Amino acid sequence: MPSNKQDALAALRGKCPVLEPGHVWLAGAGPGDPGLLTLDALAGLVQADVVVHDALVDQRILALATDAKLEFAGKRGGKPSATQADISQRLIALARDGRRVLRLKGGDPNVFGRGGEEALALAGAGIPFRVIPGVTAGLGALAAASIPATMRRINQALIFATGQGAAEEDGLDWAALAATGQPLVIYMAMQNLPKIVAALLRGGLKPDAPAAIIAAATTAQERILISRLDRLVVEARTAGLEPPAIVVIGDIVAVRDRILKRRHEP
Ligand code: SAH
Repeated sequence: MPSNKQDALAALRGKCPVLEPGHVWLAGAGPGDPGLLTLDALAGLVQADVVVHDALVDQRILALATDAKLEFAGKRGGKPSATQADISQRLIALARDGRRVLRLKGGDPNVFGRGGEEALALAGAGIPFRVIPGVTAGLGALAAASIPATMRRINQALIFATGQGAAEEDGLDWAALAATGQPLVIYMAMQNLPKIVAALLRGGLKPDAPAAIIAAATTAQERILISRLDRLVVEARTAGLEPPAIVVIGDIVAVRDRILKRRHEP
């Protein structure tokens, strides 16, 4: 039996990648369940001197960093928080100080996660870094809800969108997305949900289009609402669903029922 964490990692993948002093790993933690961590993210957790994490990283995952100092950097419930420039500067300063730095973000660092900005800042400062992808919440939530991301004869594309820009003038063209007929997986949608739904209906989506909301996917607080487009806002409100949540709209949602029915057959 492996005697310590390093041995366990080495046994799992042959040779554990080394997080060097002065280097930064920009890693995804997945949506919550520690089982969805990559082995490289786990290797980062057990070697890091400092873990700089955002609000969406699950406590069960942070608990795996037994030897590291934990630093929170990110947004928390709309309260004033460090700016992106502050966070990038902090990563650069820690690396220059010779620390082994794990920058850990919920989901995948590069999917609506500002990983690109941090990579640009690190590259510009000459800090050695690598990016470790994670299971993005959209895919984690679909799996948790037994909704296939793609299904032959149903969809040929999958649209990942953010609902955050919906209120802005330069926001997404929701009608154009609706016109593709392809399913939508929408991050950060809860605040602007009424606007998004209205825009999609105007764009030609049917009122009875299958729709789902998966909140806190793969955590102990996970909640799944299966609905239809025209009822989504009211039912989400009645159910008291809150962020973080993924909204899914399209016929792939209806496959869930077929899967669950078969599963329950004797
Ligand atoms: N980089 C992250 C996304 C960050 S944006 C990723 O790849 O997953 C934050 C949004 O992600 C939230 O508003 C929510 O829409 C979604 N999200 C993150 N974790 C989630 C979870 N456990 N369940 C449902 N949605 C989640």
